[in-house]
Amino acid sequence: MLKIAVNEINRLFDAIAAVENLYLPVEKGGEVEFGAYSADAKVRLDALQTVKSAKDMFFPFSENLMKFHVEGKQISVEAAEKVNEEFVVFGVRACDARSFSILDKVFLADPVDTYYAARREHGVVVSMACSRPEETCFCSAFGIDATKPEGDVVTWVADGVLYWEAQTEKGAALTEKVAEVLAESDSAAVEAQQAAVKAIMEKLPLAGLDLSYFTSRPELEIFKRPEWTELSSHCLGCGTCTFVCPTCQCYDVRDFDNGHGIERYRCWDSCMYRDFTMMAHGTNRKTQVERFRQRFMHKLVYNPKNRDGEFGCVGCGRCLKKCPVNMNIVKVAKTLSAGGEQA
Ligand code: SF4
Ligand code: SF4
Repeated sequence: MLKIAVNEINRLFDAIAAVENLYLPVEKGGEVEFGAYSADAKVRLDALQTVKSAKDMFFPFSENLMKFHVEGKQISVEAAEKVNEEFVVFGVRACDARSFSILDKVFLADPVDTYYAARREHGVVVSMACSRPEETCFCSAFGIDATKPEGDVVTWVADGVLYWEAQTEKGAALTEKVAEVLAESDSAAVEAQQAAVKAIMEKLPLAGLDLSYFTSRPELEIFKRPEWTELSSHCLGCGTCTFVCPTCQCYDVRDFDNGHGIERYRCWDSCMYRDFTMMAHGTNRKTQVERFRQRFMHKLVYNPKNRDGEFGCVGCGRCLKKCPVNMNIVKVAKTLSAGGEQA
């Protein structure tokens, strides 16, 4: 294990930024989001969560896919250049780190999404263990260890020191590049912090969240539960829950006329929106109850059914904090579990 004092951490950031593009949680306009490192960036490693998740680093909010150039009757197509340089995403929490493997199963499955794949290939994830989990956290319900996140490098901050441990070949390669600013360390402080944080995690209000109802009962039974109507009755269809969620992956593809041709963009979309999946015959989910049910059936039932038992949620708690009508996946899970037959 290696270390550097937190009050010298800019030496580490400068060393990384000298060899790779570096992104990390920075404060802008009072909000903390992943952004590019610069000497005057207000880095906020102390923030437990960014508003949007680190998903943006691999599946951006909006990206150009291609351009169509029109000259007379000739049309030529220019594919957007894919990411081809290494970059580092620093300070990814355990929940967001796990979300990447959920997104991989979607975007890297055949047919591979080559834009996402290029970013995953070139991105190095430096995760950061949680030292102060919040009451809205429930990552442990999905077997995620907040004290040792997944990632190419894992870091911990304890007693004014940042500890660093490479986990993969990519992580070892990055470590070699910045080794001059890191010193050797034992792991005593990290182990003490891990034990303390695990004790806190066990006492969090959502620590015992039981999702077994969703994997033990027939899909159709859950789909037909009458509670969906009441649960969805206040939903505004604003899509906030989907935009802050690290595992939501719906997108739309739109063409824009730039005056010389057409630019094709991919932008995040939301299954909570009325015009989502709109087709020539209309939309296949006409009511908010249907749209609401789809979002939670996808995360709690379809995902584990089709992807080796893995739920489409990592327990980050963002939707618990951000929904304007105070509805969220925990309320849905508890309501349906409480009223349903248990296996
Ligand atoms: S559903 Fe909510 S708690 Fe689960 S990953 Fe998405 S935002 Fe986080
Ligand atoms: S954030 Fe709340 S109100 Fe908005 S779409 Fe999601 S559940 Fe509905």
